[in-house]
Parts: sequence; structure tokens; C-alpha cells
Amino acid sequence: MKHTLPLLTALLLAPLAALHAADVSKPKPNIIFILADDLGYGDLGCYGATKVKTPNIDRLAHEGMRFTDAHSPASVCTPSRYNLMTGRYCWRTWADHGTVWANDPLLIEHGRLTLASLLKGAGYFTGCVGKWHLGFGRPGTPGWDDMLGPDFNGELKPGPLEVGFDYFYGMPGVGQIPNIFIENRRVVGLDPNDPIRFINDPRPEYQVNYLQRPRTAPTNLQMASGKSANYVFEDAALRLTEKAVAFIEQHREEPFFLYLAHRNIHNPKKPNARFAGTSEIGVYGDFIHELDWSVGEVLAALEQLKLAENTLVFFSSDNGGVKAYERINHAEIEGHRINGPLRGQKTEVYEGGHRVPFLARWPGHVKAGSESRQLIALNDVLATCADLLRVPIPRDAAEDSFSFMPALLGKPEAKDLRQSLVNDSMMGWFSIREGQWKLIVGQDGGGFYSKQDPLPPAAESAGQLYNLDDDLGETKNLYNENPERVARLTALLAKLRNDGRSRP
Ligand code: CA
Repeated sequence: MKHTLPLLTALLLAPLAALHAADVSKPKPNIIFILADDLGYGDLGCYGATKVKTPNIDRLAHEGMRFTDAHSPASVCTPSRYNLMTGRYCWRTWADHGTVWANDPLLIEHGRLTLASLLKGAGYFTGCVGKWHLGFGRPGTPGWDDMLGPDFNGELKPGPLEVGFDYFYGMPGVGQIPNIFIENRRVVGLDPNDPIRFINDPRPEYQVNYLQRPRTAPTNLQMASGKSANYVFEDAALRLTEKAVAFIEQHREEPFFLYLAHRNIHNPKKPNARFAGTSEIGVYGDFIHELDWSVGEVLAALEQLKLAENTLVFFSSDNGGVKAYERINHAEIEGHRINGPLRGQKTEVYEGGHRVPFLARWPGHVKAGSESRQLIALNDVLATCADLLRVPIPRDAAEDSFSFMPALLGKPEAKDLRQSLVNDSMMGWFSIREGQWKLIVGQDGGGFYSKQDPLPPAAESAGQLYNLDDDLGETKNLYNENPERVARLTALLAKLRNDGRSRP
């Protein structure tokens, strides 16, 4: 009894912000972030899919929280990963709205706080398993070639290990060369008699510099040699799953952070033979089934090691699914709705480009089977983890990150944690959300496939304005009818861009 009063006093004196943080008597929770690639808003059972079966990923929804208004918020791979790692909009960097290539340097700036370095600093062992896609090395460092980028035959640094990860096993990118695994700083299985060597291929079909942005190097790379280091596509998910499970086993005695970034379901869609024909919609669904199997392996490992109770598991996707209007996806023909009710797809600024599945499970903290309509984004994960651990964020870090921990914990103050959200398309169209309103500065989706969008573009106005509460499918352009709201959102977007930050 004599301990009760001081404890109560301490609780009363504790700052409000700390009260919604984790119970201090428990050890720091492990944190796992599983990021799928190109997985659409309608691709999971827990988001309405019926032609694919995703029981393992759905378990995270049944045992945790399902977000319905979560965003990547970029519409392609690299910028979303930068958002997740740094809590900052990628369009503030030299990569702008596009992806990095094998000969691009590390996108994360020297000294910048990352999700990994934050957690490492808080005592976590940090691992990245899977697709990196944030570049390696710096121009001017040993082994760097201004045309051909980092030396894949030597040490690949700076890279994940220089921005906060204790361990890395994964690929530099997906859907572009080289298709190799790297462990820490070295290429796996590299034959010294067949070193990796790139050439710049001048043929037009290899010119992929479509963004016409200033680049450090050309992007028309081809592999002249080194293909013996290439991984087998059909084994990639299995290998990453093995590495992820081994990481969990090895670090079960200490707080760990695992960032597991799968290549499923990005092209080329090549699941292992064991998943062939398991879905109703062909290889698209089979590849989702492989992803779901992998998540199941990770969850099973947590249970076997009795870590499930003290592990916060996130699951999301780096951008919307690919429907590719001009040769509509086989899965869509079969009645599967890749992006659910949303307009557009990957690369575009419509909701289908950036509204993504987002799940969080943390037994005893996040209510099982709960749902949140909170507007959140991948760049918010950093501030959320800092909030969880009560680590202050320096002013010059995570400039666009807002904690959604109150929403996760179902706290009453969890109302409009984020006042606005900026999204961008691959071609550089911006949009801004405020409440239910979304302004798009552009007349279409601003992506690869926008010219084939079955809905008419906003030809009669300079931009597009949608009320997502009434019109989630973005079909009724209210731009001309709401000049005041357009002006307000235009000014807000300009401010967020000019200020270099959105966090106060
Ligand atoms: Ca992607």
C-alpha cells in the first residue's frame, strides 16, 4: 500500500503525452514492419477481396487494427520507402517523385534521422530484409563511378548499415537490374571471375530517363557481366522469409526492429511453383498467396518463440496496385478489384495510386478487430515509434511525420491527428488532402496510365477537387464550383512546400 500513493502522484504529474505511451512496466515491444510492393487497396481478404485468400494477413486485422484511410503517400517504390524511413516527403529530395536506379547514390542524406537509427538509438537491434531501393554509395567515394554508380564488386557503402540498420539482407531494387542479393555490404554469391559490370546501352528501348529530372547518372544500364550472381525469382520470397525468421530467432532476447520489404507483388510476378494455380485469378493471385504465406511464417515464428504478445506488427504497401488500363490486368478480368473502389493505380495521384492497406497488431494495446478512419501515411511511422518510446524528435528530422499512436491505442484525443496530407504522382502532379477534401493540381492522374483512364479528365478546369466522403471514387470534379476551397488548398500546399516541413 505504501507504494501506491507515490505511483499515483507520479501518474498525475506525468505529461499528457506520456500517458498514452506504452505501459512502462513492460519491456520495449519488438517492432516488425512488413511492406508489400504494389499491393492494392482491394488485394486482401480483409479489404474485400474474394478471389484471393489471405488468412495470415487477415489475422493481423482480426487481432489488431485495420486502417481505411492510410497512404503511401507517394505512388511509386522509392519515394514511399524514403517517406517510411525518414518521416519526410521524398519530393523534398533530388529523387523528387521518381525512383532511384542501380547507379544512383544513397538517397538518405548523411546524418539524417531514420526509423532505423531512431530505434537503434533506443536500444533495438535493427534489421532490413528485402527490397532497399534507396541507392548505395556517394559520388566521389572510393569505387564510385560517376556514370555507373557504386562498385557492386566491392563494399556497397553508405547503404542500410550507415543509416541505422545493424543487418541487411536484400536486393537493391526490383524490376530493374541487377537482380542480386546483398548481405550487409557485399553481393551474395559473387563470382570473382564474373564480376558485375554495367554498360550504358544507348538503344532507345533502354532509355528509361522519362522523368527528365536532373540525375547524377544515366539510367539506361545493362549488365555486361556478373549475371551469375543473379537470384532465382521464384525463390526470392522464400529466401527473404528464411532470413526474416532467422533474424527473429537470433534476436529474440533483445528488443528488435525488423523491416521486411517483400518484392511481392511487383513485376516480374514469379511466385514459387508451390503457389502456382492456388488462386482463382492466375499468377497475380498466386503471388499474393506467396506473400500471405510469408506473413504466416513470420507470425508463426513469433508464436513459437513466445514473442507475439510483445511485438507490434505493421503491414502495409508502398503504393497502389497496377491495373494498366491499356492491357487490363488478367486479375481484373476475373472479377478481382485490385484497388477496390478507388480510381487510378500505381504512379497516379488518384486514390488508387496511394491509398493502401495498413494493419497494426499489438496484443493488449491495439484492440482486436478494430478499425480506424484516421488519415495516416507511411511517413507517420517514425513519429509513432518515437511516441511509443518517448524519444523526442529533433527539429531537423522527420519533418512530415505525425504520431498516430493515440489512434492505435484507441484514445479519445485521437481526432484528426494529421491536418493535411500531400500526395504526388510519378510525373509530379501534387494533391493535398484536408479533411474529406482533396485537391489535385493537374487534369488527370499524372501517371503512366492516365491517358487510358476510363473516366474523363478534368478538361474544363485547371485542376480537380473531390469530396472523398461522398465520392471516394473521384468521379465528380467540384473544382469550378468551389473557388474558395480551391484557393485555400492551393495556398496550403504552397506553404507546406515552401516551409520545407509540415510538422510544427
Ligand atoms: Ca511499389
